[in-house]
Amino acid sequence: MKQIQNFINGEFVSSAKTFEKRSPLNNAVIAAVHEADQTQVDAAVQAARSALQGAWGKLTIVDRVELLYGVANEINRRFDEFLEAECADTGKPMSLARHIDIPRGAANFKIFADIVKNVPTEFFEMSTPDGRGALNYATRSPVGVVGIVCPWNLPLLLMTWKAGPALACGNTIVVKPSEETPQTATLLGEVMNSVGIPKGVYNVVHGFGPNSAGEFLTRHQGVNAITFTGETRTGAAIMKAAADGARPVSLEMGGKNPAIIFADCDFDAAIEGTMRSVFSNCGQVCLGTERVYVERPLFEKFVAALKQGAESLKIGVPNDPSTGIGPLISQEHKNKVLSYYQKACDEGAFIVTGGGVPTMESDLANGAWVQPTIWTGLGDDAAVCREEIFGPCCHIFPFDSEEEVIRRANDTTYGLAASVWTSNLQRAHRVAGKIEAGLVWVNSWFLRDLRTPFGGAKQSGIGREGGVHSLEFYTELKNICIKL
Ligand code: NAD
Repeated sequence: MKQIQNFINGEFVSSAKTFEKRSPLNNAVIAAVHEADQTQVDAAVQAARSALQGAWGKLTIVDRVELLYGVANEINRRFDEFLEAECADTGKPMSLARHIDIPRGAANFKIFADIVKNVPTEFFEMSTPDGRGALNYATRSPVGVVGIVCPWNLPLLLMTWKAGPALACGNTIVVKPSEETPQTATLLGEVMNSVGIPKGVYNVVHGFGPNSAGEFLTRHQGVNAITFTGETRTGAAIMKAAADGARPVSLEMGGKNPAIIFADCDFDAAIEGTMRSVFSNCGQVCLGTERVYVERPLFEKFVAALKQGAESLKIGVPNDPSTGIGPLISQEHKNKVLSYYQKACDEGAFIVTGGGVPTMESDLANGAWVQPTIWTGLGDDAAVCREEIFGPCCHIFPFDSEEEVIRRANDTTYGLAASVWTSNLQRAHRVAGKIEAGLVWVNSWFLRDLRTPFGGAKQSGIGREGGVHSLEFYTELKNICIKL
């Protein structure tokens, strides 16, 4: 049985307790994961503290950045190992992970190293009564030991999205990957050692949330700042833990994202974009669409085309190049998604397509497979139209006016992302401005320069990361005033 250990102070470390990692494809146990106890989390935080005060803290920014370029290069050199590990944990199509998860995992180190190396600083000259004046300039110091708590949907991509800037800014980190996806974060430990990242800079503790590694880490007073991606209610629990010690948090949380399709849109582009935003990664993308609003003249045509697209997706295993959609992450998540499929029926939805479990051959029958699903006919208040499902499904509503669709799109506690499809530039700008979300796409989806701010409005997030915005969280700004 494959053993997935913790990575503490540059060493792979076993725990007294292990838990099973099961394949989403067939529910078979594929690894034993070592669950860090309180003592091991203490050791990881201590190692991170020592590295901060030791070798890592003493590096110049230029040397630190060079090491992070080395991490990016080494991920690319071991690309296939990362790909195998990510797809084994998640069941996602290799074609997807090959183009998104693993390259972005490497790029996150390179891009943030570049940003940190090149960011300018503030400088102000001031006058003083004695006429000699003073100089003010700002410096950025690391915040210290950063705790990083991650979800399972884009494991390497989302973890490195925080690890990259945290390390580039000179912090040391303790990562708690999702219990569902322990492998790539662990593999990254090997990369850190092989490129010469000092011991204790990057640590990984495995386990669950409450009463396990997640809670031990976020409650730990040796952790100076906590960055989290995951469900909104988990983010709220982490915020409470961070209040003890008044420690800063950056929270990237859930969504119930709308797509707004105006009748004047480029129809094929809108279908292609909405297909990706609903069904990519089996609907397990925080930025994905679960509510689709289509202007009434286009409604029937749009529903028919999305149905055809959903039915043409090949459900399959990661290494089959024709696979369009894989399984959900776990049996537990499958049960959650199927409970929403049932709720949609109970609430009287019209099932355009899907709504159940596909027939899979041999041992795949035990996997976390669900059918891509589209509903119509429900009101805005139905559970499947309000709550985040995180599965390959959406509800499509007709709408009649711009004002109406903006009101309905904003009628949610979430505010992560939205997409607007129209050929009217003025309208695109007007609607994008009025949508309450951290990110609005016009005539696209999942297109983003990593230098831009990323985060959610309302209950989808607190703070922004990305580009120089990440520096606001991962550094302490200090003003130094020199009297001349
Ligand atoms: P989750 O909140 O269940 O778990 C995320 C992580 O938090 C896991 O590592 C888990 O072990 C840990 N955790 C759980 N309870 C904890 C606690 N009390 N204290 C400390 N740690 C705890 O989320 P998930 O199911 O892994 O991921 C899916 C969710 O993530 C969805 O809601 C999705 O929208 C969201 N998400 C958001 C973004 C974003 O950028 N906004 C990106 C990806 C996923």
